[in-house]
Amino acid sequence: MEEDLEVGGRGAVRGAAELPRLVTEVREAYRNGRTRPAAWRVQQLNGIIRMISERESEIVQTLYTDLGKPSHESYVTEVSLVRSACKLAIKELKKWMAPLKVSGSITTFPSWGAIVAEPLGVALVISAWNFPFLLSVEPLVGAISAGCAMVLKPSEVAPATAALLSKLVPLYLDSSVIRVVEGGVDETTVLLDQQWDKIFYTGSPRVGRIVMAAASKHLTPVTLELGGKCPVYIDRTADLKVGLRRIALGKWGCNNGQACIAPDYLLIDEIIASEVVDTLIDVIETFYGKDPKTSQDLSRIVNTKHYSRLAGFLDDPKISSKIVHGGARDDNKLYISPTLVCDVPMDSTLMSEEIFGPILPIIKVKGVQEAIDIISDRPKPLVAYVFTKNKEVEKRIVASISSGGMVVNDTIVHFLNPGLPFGGVGESGMSSYHGKFSFDAFSHKKAVLYRNNLGDVPARFPPFTTMKQNF
Ligand code: NAD
Repeated sequence: MEEDLEVGGRGAVRGAAELPRLVTEVREAYRNGRTRPAAWRVQQLNGIIRMISERESEIVQTLYTDLGKPSHESYVTEVSLVRSACKLAIKELKKWMAPLKVSGSITTFPSWGAIVAEPLGVALVISAWNFPFLLSVEPLVGAISAGCAMVLKPSEVAPATAALLSKLVPLYLDSSVIRVVEGGVDETTVLLDQQWDKIFYTGSPRVGRIVMAAASKHLTPVTLELGGKCPVYIDRTADLKVGLRRIALGKWGCNNGQACIAPDYLLIDEIIASEVVDTLIDVIETFYGKDPKTSQDLSRIVNTKHYSRLAGFLDDPKISSKIVHGGARDDNKLYISPTLVCDVPMDSTLMSEEIFGPILPIIKVKGVQEAIDIISDRPKPLVAYVFTKNKEVEKRIVASISSGGMVVNDTIVHFLNPGLPFGGVGESGMSSYHGKFSFDAFSHKKAVLYRNNLGDVPARFPPFTTMKQNF
């Protein structure tokens, strides 16, 4: 298999005009069946592991260039997650690929059945900028495991990572069936115009609609990993000492709030509201010092467009008067300090748009029912968080809030468990991935019914005489 591997032959493609030809080439190579054998899949997964081992410092440095991401954070939240996903897939692949036996039914006796996972075919993966390595390569792990061919279009908003991927992927992976296309809206539009067997998209709900509309032309199945406002409810029984550190880490310790699963706003039982705010300020100072601008542990805002968007939230007079902590800015360094805004009006843009940055609105509520009502009045979130020691509150939240995922007494950690499907519902997306769910996202479950040539019941076939009808 090793000598059969075509690596380093085909690099990045720039220019929309080349793309239809590229997709045709990938499809032809896929039709040759090269992606089907388990050996090919394992070889490619090992290729990703080797790429990470040999290029780890380059990857981490590139993430710093794009996002000012601290190296520890890049390692924990991007590189090591991809490596673990590959290792799990290699370990489980045979099991995932094995046909699942299904016993025969009385109506088809004698027969037996099997559910056969077949690769969907040629997949398009479009990724977002905020975890530009993870969100590009982890879907590839799913596509490779399932035996698909693929074209990856990383985000142009993290250009250094996109360039690195288009340099490294052809060096480590089979470039006849795994290609990287750099580019923005123009290139993505041309790609979306081609026929695909699967589109896996990570990004905003706005562009998610464009992707789904394009997919509908060929009835292409989609996974949409979208965003939105992830709420946190803090109940009066919550362990604040433990919980607020976990909330702060999920908000500022993970790309400085620029994460789809970052806590977007807090709903706090009014009885504990002032204690929560005071403790949270202490936690922020403990994590990032009195002047967080000097901290080595905070990512910067990705670009001027997003910086201006976030600054615009704070310039709204309805919001600026409510800042209780932070609010410091440096236009040149694209820096906004961890910022708490209390009693935010529900009709403000801060409460209607995804924040995706270091600003955290706080809203006091009378209790769990008001929190449920506020969350349920809004589009279904990617994840909802609840902090409580009260089992009844926990049960009520789990039973009544519809969200992609849910975490009780922590934030963001559900992302780390490959046994849990990761994905949204409604406005926050559809379908899911991680672990076996990534394999499933790129597979078709084919139902196969096997019969032998024995024993047909005559009543099954015409002519349907009275005797047969009475049978
Ligand atoms: P985005 O939707 O602007 O861009 C994502 C991708 O779509 C990029 O590759 C981009 O080139 C492409 N794109 C942009 N405009 C397009 C257009 N008009 N036509 C075709 N393609 C287009 O999203 P983003 O700014 O990169 O990421 C932020 C959003 O992604 C947030 O909403 C965040 O919550 C969400 N997100 C979700 C997840 C998840 O796993 N659910 C992960 C990260 C980010």
